[in-house]
Amino acid sequence: MPSGQHKRRRFTIIGEHPVSEFGKLELKDRFDLMVIGGGSAGFAAAIRGAELGFSVALVEADTIGGTCVNIGCIPSKTLIRAVEAHHQAGGKRFRGIETLQGRIDWPQVLAHKDELVLELRQTKYTDVLAAYPDIAYFRGRARLTGNNRVDVDGRGYTASKIIIATGAKPWAPPIPGLDEVPYLDSTSALDLQPLPTSMIVLGANAVGLELAQLYARAGTKVTLIEVLPSIAPFEDPAISAALRGYLEGEGLHVVTRFMTRVVAKPNGHYLVTGSSGDAERTFEAEQLLVATGRRANTAGLGLEEAGVGLGERGEILVDDRLQTHNPFVYAAGDVIGKDMFVYVAAYGGMLAAENALTGAARTYDASYIPRLTFTDPQIASAGLTEDRARQLGYDVKVSTLPMGQVPHAQAGRDPRGLIKLVADAATDRLLGAHILASNAGEMIQTAVLAIRFGITVGELRETMFPYLTSSEGLKLAAIAFEKDLAMLSCCAG
Ligand SMILES: Cc1cc2nc3c(=O)[nH]c(=O)nc-3n(C[C@H](O)[C@H](O)[C@H](O)COP(=O)(O)OP(=O)(O)OC[C@H]3O[C@@H](n4cnc5c(N)ncnc54)[C@H](O)[C@@H]3O)c2cc1C
Repeated sequence: MPSGQHKRRRFTIIGEHPVSEFGKLELKDRFDLMVIGGGSAGFAAAIRGAELGFSVALVEADTIGGTCVNIGCIPSKTLIRAVEAHHQAGGKRFRGIETLQGRIDWPQVLAHKDELVLELRQTKYTDVLAAYPDIAYFRGRARLTGNNRVDVDGRGYTASKIIIATGAKPWAPPIPGLDEVPYLDSTSALDLQPLPTSMIVLGANAVGLELAQLYARAGTKVTLIEVLPSIAPFEDPAISAALRGYLEGEGLHVVTRFMTRVVAKPNGHYLVTGSSGDAERTFEAEQLLVATGRRANTAGLGLEEAGVGLGERGEILVDDRLQTHNPFVYAAGDVIGKDMFVYVAAYGGMLAAENALTGAARTYDASYIPRLTFTDPQIASAGLTEDRARQLGYDVKVSTLPMGQVPHAQAGRDPRGLIKLVADAATDRLLGAHILASNAGEMIQTAVLAIRFGITVGELRETMFPYLTSSEGLKLAAIAFEKDLAMLSCCAG
């Protein structure tokens, strides 16, 4: 049922959190579905449950909306866009166009970011919840106390089915000395004042890369350290190598294959000591950001007692219908320890609710999930890398196109990046797409549809793409499987 058709429920606001109009007097203690965690996965699950006509309770221990709106996607992306505007000012991309770079008023930038977070938390979570009268919202910490029992801050409830959507939190490796210094994580790094003069970023996967470039563009001298051989280590090697070059071109100091041995803060500055090969090196900076991954929030939830199995990293183990080892309990979102993107969390929440409540057997399909890193240029990929496709035994064919050959990039004087398509030579089906481009995130969706719906390289080639768009690059890359692009006239024709 569209949300507009719902009867609006009155809310009492306690602090910034809504509580149902019954507040603590909510008499109901039995629900068809209890969802633990009020982030994107939890919201999607609760809304789907209510849409299907079931009574639903949604329990959130902290701030409504969870990671994405409060401490993840929204604050990070608006800060990235803000410093991008600063970075581009004063650039010399277009002959005859002179722009000047002004100063950064960082407290204003952070305040503007906070306003957006507040606005979107209100409109996308608090107001949306108000439109679903069949969802009871509890502010409290939940734990399982039996097959169908949930305790919320000392009060017990019964639920026919339970969905755990408690998300994940920043994780740091056990590096000697790290516990003894107050380092930044992805949350505190989005609220840091004043702007530091120098920063070491440990970890060069999506979060580390985004924040490293953000601070470098704001004027901080950044050293980016990665233990693996390349930055963006799970992407196609050509993309990792090209991005490294662009970041170094902007002044970031990038160090790979670096095993950190010890961290200290003897005189107000952080010292990170370790080795790459035989040589021991120490890096020094005013701030240290640890961006070495996220781990599932599963501690204290009573999961083991409830027969919910956990993996080595504390993630909830689920089958392909998102059911845990306990048949009454499902899990979705970051808490299952993989594909940590907000749209995957929402997809999982919805799917878990349908499977739990209706007995549907919808399976979790990860084959086409778009993976994005919001650096500039952005990384966007979907499907299989060339290496993975070969490991799986495909007869692989590959096409690589520098963005400099895409008319949109030529006209915009931004030739940075490349497109790499991976296809099955036997069937001509697209297996994977890997893009490094200023707006790769917009381009990847064409490839996502192609991978999901089995579209062939030939079909991509024969489809019209609007001229002078970056997505046209995908058509050009499809043509480049069999034709020299120098032989083409305008419009990929
Ligand atoms: C810096 C950063 C940038 C990101 N950028 C992007 C991006 O641009 N695009 C993108 O797609 N993804 C991005 N992500 C990832 C995205 O934010 C997450 O994948 C998504 O928010 C996960 O949603 P979730 O519902 O699984 O968990 P969460 O949103 O974390 O929600 C879990 C909720 O459960 C609550 N909870 C925990 N334990 C309990 C308990 N016992 N009882 C009750 N409640 C509990 C928590 O308080 C939390 O609110 C980013 C993440 C970070 C950290």
